[in-house]
Amino acid sequence: MDLYEHQARELFKDHGIPVPDAAVVATPREARAAAEALGGSVVVKAQVKTGGRGKAGGVKFAADAASAELTARQILGMDIKGHTVRKVMLAQPVDIDAEFYVGYVLDRAAGTFLAIASAEGGMDIEEVAATRPEAVVRIPVDPAVGITAEKAAAIAAAAGLPAEAATVLQQLWQVLIREDALLVEVNPLVRTTGGRILALDGKVTLDDNASFRQARWGTSHADNADPHGDPLEADAAAKGLNYVKLAGRVGVIGNGAGLVMSTLDVVAGCGAEPANFLDIGGGASAQVMADGLSVILSDPDVRSVLVNVFGGITACDAVADGIVQALESVHLTKPLVVRLDGNNAAQGRAILNARAHPLVQQATTMDGAARRAAAFCLMGASPQTPAATQGVR
Ligand code: GDP
Ligand code: MN
Repeated sequence: MDLYEHQARELFKDHGIPVPDAAVVATPREARAAAEALGGSVVVKAQVKTGGRGKAGGVKFAADAASAELTARQILGMDIKGHTVRKVMLAQPVDIDAEFYVGYVLDRAAGTFLAIASAEGGMDIEEVAATRPEAVVRIPVDPAVGITAEKAAAIAAAAGLPAEAATVLQQLWQVLIREDALLVEVNPLVRTTGGRILALDGKVTLDDNASFRQARWGTSHADNADPHGDPLEADAAAKGLNYVKLAGRVGVIGNGAGLVMSTLDVVAGCGAEPANFLDIGGGASAQVMADGLSVILSDPDVRSVLVNVFGGITACDAVADGIVQALESVHLTKPLVVRLDGNNAAQGRAILNARAHPLVQQATTMDGAARRAAAFCLMGASPQTPAATQGVR
């Protein structure tokens, strides 16, 4: 889960990282009052979960409370890379002497964290990283050791940051560990003309797997119910399904992430695009199959559905029972191609044949099933061979 800048700012503050005074508002009128309380002049900042707000016109200086209201009026409702601005943060402006970049990110490939730091922070950090990679240092961090004072000093020195930045590097590590984040980033971390170190902008991605032990996620991060999140994904998440919406038109259900991934590839190889990833896992119940089918069938993009199950511990007859039960609770309106293989495949196929639903077809191979599902999808139509007993190959 990504946090908004103002939420990242709160976490930074909680862990002792200096941040400018600020307020979050949703209307121009509130912006005027908040700017007055902050001393008049403010930086008005769009709250959207995407970078590059500054370049998109989502970060603007306002000299007094009246212009803060006008500026908020301009920025609220603005579209930044497909994200509508619903709130702005007003921050006390600072005079910047230098901008730095500091962050930690999980490096999955290396199985460790990575400290990333640069003395050339600010809005052009991506360009700096691309054109002069030597200006951005990347230092592995052993999660069991963390960021000691020595490590922080070494990172600061390697990146050419002022020595005072080492304290922030230690505090930022605490944000990552204590808040269960996968990524924490400050850009820019600034030195003001008065010599203070301040975090002016922050990005935090929390590890959703840790939500059970992070009570505050339900409260202070509550407005993260992302308005840009996909409604089908939200529905699937509520049903506890392992579902990801994709751009195509062939709905896919399988057991096991690896098999589902391969199925997506095979569908694509047949010239159609998968509409989703859905892994019902091992030992899937009829309920899980029904839930999965209902999510996929409620996707208006879906034209055909491919169920690809390789029976292992879960036998195919149990899966077939699940599909039959699902057909009781889900109104099937699109062709469903089922491939059952592995443990008790013959019994599973017999169960589906006995059910003889006109929109259900079977195939014995993954390729054959994918070809047929793709063909239904490409012709955008109903099956030509109506009975389940037909077309097994
Ligand atoms: P981003 O474009 O989404 O990364 O938004 P930032 O919050 O990082 O703001 C973009 C840029 O605006 C920063 O890199 C700073 O150069 C500038 N900026 C933001 N706040 C202030 C401020 O209080 N004073 C000054 N002088 N510049 C600021
Ligand atoms: Mn920034």
